[in-house]
Parts: sequence; C-alpha cells; structure tokens
Amino acid sequence: MSDPRHTPSQIGPNADATRLRIVWGDGEFSEYEPRDLRLRCPCAGCVDEMTGRRILRPEMVPANVHPTAIHYVGRYALQFIWSDGHDTGFYPYDFLRRIWDEGIEAGEAGEG
Ligand SMILES: [Zn+2]
Repeated sequence: MSDPRHTPSQIGPNADATRLRIVWGDGEFSEYEPRDLRLRCPCAGCVDEMTGRRILRPEMVPANVHPTAIHYVGRYALQFIWSDGHDTGFYPYDFLRRIWDEGIEAGEAGEG
C-alpha cells in the first residue's frame, strides 16, 4: 500500500519559510504556496461533493493565510489548521503529489 511517491519522508518550511516543503519517499520534493494549498482544500465545505465544483471563493481567503498546525491523518493524509480558522480539509498524499506534478506540467513550478 505504501507507494514511496505518496509517502512523505520530511515535511516542513522551505529555506526562506515562504512555502511548505514535502520530501517524498522516492527522493522528489514538492513545495506549496500556503494560500494555493488553502484554495485547493478538498473538504466538503470547499468543494461540492456531488458535482466536484469548487464552492470556496478565492476572495474569501486572506492573502496571508498559512497553516498554524499540521496533523498527520492516519498514513494517507495531512490535516492543515489554517490561520483563517478552517480545519476540516484532509489532504491525501497522492492529492498533494498530484497537484505538484500538475503544476510542473503547467509550468507553474517557479524557480525553487
Ligand atoms: Zn475546506
């Protein structure tokens, strides 16, 4: 069950503490803008479970939103406690890895 590509070996801020950095079991790493992660929250309050449509409106999310705590959810996900009070989003590891990989394909990875 434990695909190293979807197993974080290290989670923490990147060098200048502007992004969340995850090092994966296969040696790759991902970095996420905190607000970007908040906007991608997959919980039922942010995404309509029936249609998959995003309910969360970006203008509702403060520009400086950041996680105040990160909890492990079993072996499959992270739960972020956000500075705007939102805490119901579980971010499965394969989801986190996928949005990073999709960002690279879309050319949005930044210079790192
Ligand atoms: Zn949410």
